Amino acid sequence: MKKRHKYILFLFLTFIILGFMSFFSVKTVIAHQAKNEILIYLDAGHGGFDGGATSYDEHTIEKDITLKTCLYLKSYLEKTGFKVKMTRTTDKALAKNKRDDILKRVSLINKSKCNIYISIHANAYPSKTVKGAQTFFTTRYDENLLLATKIMNYLYTVDATNQRVAKELNGKYLLDNTNKIGCLVELGFLTNELDLVLLTSDDGLAKVASLIYLGILDYLEEQNGKTND
Ligand SMILES: [Zn+2]
Repeated sequence: MKKRHKYILFLFLTFIILGFMSFFSVKTVIAHQAKNEILIYLDAGHGGFDGGATSYDEHTIEKDITLKTCLYLKSYLEKTGFKVKMTRTTDKALAKNKRDDILKRVSLINKSKCNIYISIHANAYPSKTVKGAQTFFTTRYDENLLLATKIMNYLYTVDATNQRVAKELNGKYLLDNTNKIGCLVELGFLTNELDLVLLTSDDGLAKVASLIYLGILDYLEEQNGKTND
């Protein structure tokens, strides 16, 4: 219990610090790109009949965590002037089977005019010691690596021992078939005790969403810098 309290206090303090940081970042990004509307597509993995991964204690399902995180992220983005669309906003799949569901997600993202998309997932593994958030991307666009790296850089703040890096991933239908810049974020392992503490508290999910948000801002800022040079 003591450890848990310490952890929550840590999250709280980090959140405040990041809040200040994001305020200054947002000002810069908005100043550069006020004329252009930036649309960000958020994809909350799974939903409805498709629960995704399950926690080791079987109380937590991936689909609920991905949706909550996306809703936090959506609110942060919208409050600071970004446009946001989501592949789902409730606990519903986009089709009656998994294949059509993923086709629909890809189609929604591809038909949109989004500047970037972020697909959110949470992991599971037979060994409870495996842990840590990680971002994944394909090399279809150079910007994918930059976006995945920027988000990953912030995700280390929840776990300084996380050795994972932004990683190229092929064979995921959504990543392979989207024709927009984007990446996939695995929030952590539902089968790891510490990851699960973070991902089952609203404060924890709000924190993780804020880190993804900051990564997006860093990415946009860097892209802006390039176009303004
Ligand atoms: Zn998933």
